[in-house]
Amino acid sequence: MGTEIGGNKAGTFGDFGVFSFHSHKNITTLGEGGMLICKEKKYADIIPLLRHNGHTAWDFERPNYWTPAMGNVDLPELDGKYLMPNNFSLGEVESALGIELLKRIDQINSEKRKRAIYFIDEISSTSSLLKFHRVDTTQHNYHLLVAEVKDGKKDIFMKKMSEEKGIQCVVQYYPLNRYDLYKKLGFGDANIPNTDKFFDNMVSFPFHHYMSDEEFEYMLQATKEVLEEIDN
Ligand SMILES: *Cc1c(COP(=O)(O)O)cnc(C)c1O
Repeated sequence: MGTEIGGNKAGTFGDFGVFSFHSHKNITTLGEGGMLICKEKKYADIIPLLRHNGHTAWDFERPNYWTPAMGNVDLPELDGKYLMPNNFSLGEVESALGIELLKRIDQINSEKRKRAIYFIDEISSTSSLLKFHRVDTTQHNYHLLVAEVKDGKKDIFMKKMSEEKGIQCVVQYYPLNRYDLYKKLGFGDANIPNTDKFFDNMVSFPFHHYMSDEEFEYMLQATKEVLEEIDN
């Protein structure tokens, strides 16, 4: 959320836009949640119904408001089909938090971007073992801080970071075709050489918004030290 391409914010172009407020994201609604936006009115009309079990008002005058029931469940036909509604509602408390955080999205994004670029520049000026994707415009919000580790040194890098420096980097995200479920579903084989190469050599640094400056600086220095030890 808040990223741009060609000066247009994500969500202002295309037929649909989907924003995640999962806890990993730059803003979150207490762990889970999301927002769907769309261009066409026919979809905008149906989405609130799909979101909440298809609950809607009766389309006729009722002498008694409780008859035949308080409300109806119905959905208009969409592109020749009737869809099954569900319950994807975001609660009041989550929404209240989301509305407040939305006011700070530009500030949060720019703080994350500034930190990421600082980290990338500092590391890149001392070692070429980590390769980052550096974008210093508002195109990129760095919701994660990720690098490719060169020369097959991912395991030694992660091991030293965690065992010697107490910093637990992680790897994300395992290509779907490697998970047991997707293999069972017949999606085990995929011709995705870039994904394979990236995942097998990638590292993701701790990068939540509430890391203190001291913690962040410690991570930067520790990373430099480990790179120096293994860079030869
Ligand atoms: C955010 C994120 C999710 C969670 O998205 P939701 O739509 O909120 O469930 C899953 N996978 C990746 C890679 C993500 O970045």
